[in-house]
Amino acid sequence: MSVERVHSHVVTEAAKNCLTERGVTISDIAEIVMQMQGPYNSKLTIEECVDSVEKVLLKREIQHALLVGVELDKLAEQKKLSEPLQSIVEADEGLFGVDETIALGASLGYGSIAVTTFGHLDKNKIGIIAKLDTKVGGGVHTFLDDMIASIAANASSRLAHRLRDMEENLPPEERRIIEDE
Ligand code: MG
Repeated sequence: MSVERVHSHVVTEAAKNCLTERGVTISDIAEIVMQMQGPYNSKLTIEECVDSVEKVLLKREIQHALLVGVELDKLAEQKKLSEPLQSIVEADEGLFGVDETIALGASLGYGSIAVTTFGHLDKNKIGIIAKLDTKVGGGVHTFLDDMIASIAANASSRLAHRLRDMEENLPPEERRIIEDE
């Protein structure tokens, strides 16, 4: 039996909606990127950070990881997971680790800067990540906070590599942007 494939546009839209419905804006993530990359690039603008986040959100691996993570958060909020997973996800248990593993996996395609930045954000939760982590409002964001850290880390890595290409005045076709855009 063949199952019809879901069009990329549908997945992209669903991934963006995931963020919106969970109260996260592109600007929230861009602000984290600014904090991560601003110290290395005095000319960096928030618009460039927004653009980088939007580019990361076009990548399939990221969209899929976001969809899986947010779905699990929502099911946990609705108490629809089986025990003991329900209690573990709902409590955001520190030793669970699957949330970080999925998010880290989503950063592997963006190189070592993405991986190390993700580790930094996982430890030092800033901006919207801190808000999600404090469990204000009773929602479950066990997976979402790590996915935001991953998206911000990936967008930061993109900008770091782009900066070097720009500094070297590389023509667009030679810019070694690390993704298959
Ligand atoms: Mg988490």
